Amino acid sequence: MNSPNNAVSDIYRYALEKVDFYRSGYPSVDSVVNFSDVPFLSRKQTLENVNMLLSDEYRSYPLSKTITVERSLGKTGEYLKTLWSADDYTASLGILDKYRKDWHRVGKGSKQLRFHTALYQGNMIVSNKQIVVEDGIMSIYCFAMNRENAPDISRQIMEFAPDCLVAPPSIAFQMARLFTCMNLPLPESLKYIELTGEESGEEAINLIQSTFHVRPVNLYSVKGLGGIAFECSSGSLHVLKENVFVEIVKDGKPVFGEEGEIVVTTLTNHAMPLIRYKTGDVGILSNAPCPCGCSSPVLEIKVGRKCALHLLEDGNFVSEYSLKSIIEHANENISCAIAQARFAWVSEGSISVILQLKPSYYGWDTAAIAEFLNNVPCIIFSLVFEFVFSSNYGHLT
Ligand SMILES: [Zn+2]
Repeated sequence: MNSPNNAVSDIYRYALEKVDFYRSGYPSVDSVVNFSDVPFLSRKQTLENVNMLLSDEYRSYPLSKTITVERSLGKTGEYLKTLWSADDYTASLGILDKYRKDWHRVGKGSKQLRFHTALYQGNMIVSNKQIVVEDGIMSIYCFAMNRENAPDISRQIMEFAPDCLVAPPSIAFQMARLFTCMNLPLPESLKYIELTGEESGEEAINLIQSTFHVRPVNLYSVKGLGGIAFECSSGSLHVLKENVFVEIVKDGKPVFGEEGEIVVTTLTNHAMPLIRYKTGDVGILSNAPCPCGCSSPVLEIKVGRKCALHLLEDGNFVSEYSLKSIIEHANENISCAIAQARFAWVSEGSISVILQLKPSYYGWDTAAIAEFLNNVPCIIFSLVFEFVFSSNYGHLT
């Protein structure tokens, strides 16, 4: 097989040897001429074959203690659990840390401000504590960021004096809007802002920059694959080539310098290796030289996951990112019965929650509603939820 590099052929060979999904039906390394002849993996296939995509060593999940689980609703609202070995997960984060240090001088000793949607112990949700400070990281529960708590949160942030903020754009945007509206002090210690998990959008970027006086950098990542591309000090989003192999695909063929779907192959996740995974995002890859000196291709994202923030009648804000997290957590307690979820705003104070259950969970409507409401934080109690169940499995759009 002609392969872009050794790491790509190594992970493909590993997947063929160790993973049922690829073992049954994927072409052998010898029978494939080019890596670009290997089939694509869609999100739908991934959802339907989660267990088949686990490699032999990690089949014992959830008994294995060395597994890290990531949950995501993604752009399509389809619930996907991806698994990592703890060692691979750490290695993947390590690659990103190296670039944070090289490009932005953010080292391990930096004081970070982050946001969480729930706290996990192992892979179980243990609490929704509002603020936790541990190992130089202050982590704030994203739903705690409301008008009532904001003065106390601001005071604690000022005392902590973080130098880094790492957040989804909608949460950083929400914090900037709330603190600005309420005239609350902001930490001048902040030197670095990293936005990840969604496409930032110009309005969010501008407000975050003018509020914190720091130009944010973007990290493009996908659950199960980790960091895919990271913004350098010159503002280019470079592919993290030690972590992933990225292709842009147009009409089924890889292209360079043209717009197409972003397709990613992991080089680090051996527990659930995703090979030629179609992200559903659209971008362009180019080899234009970058003033930073990094030779890794530059990715320009054209269509990604939108950052969406809504103003409620009581003056608070809620992001779609946070709402999705309610589904992710509720699903854990009902055997992941929810296959797909969407939100549609009816008015400022009312939202339609459109849920689709897996066919084998027919009749679980009441349990799904109860578990969703059970996970709704008090900050958005003023929001009225209307539940709609879609029976057209696999076609919720
Ligand atoms: Zn660069």
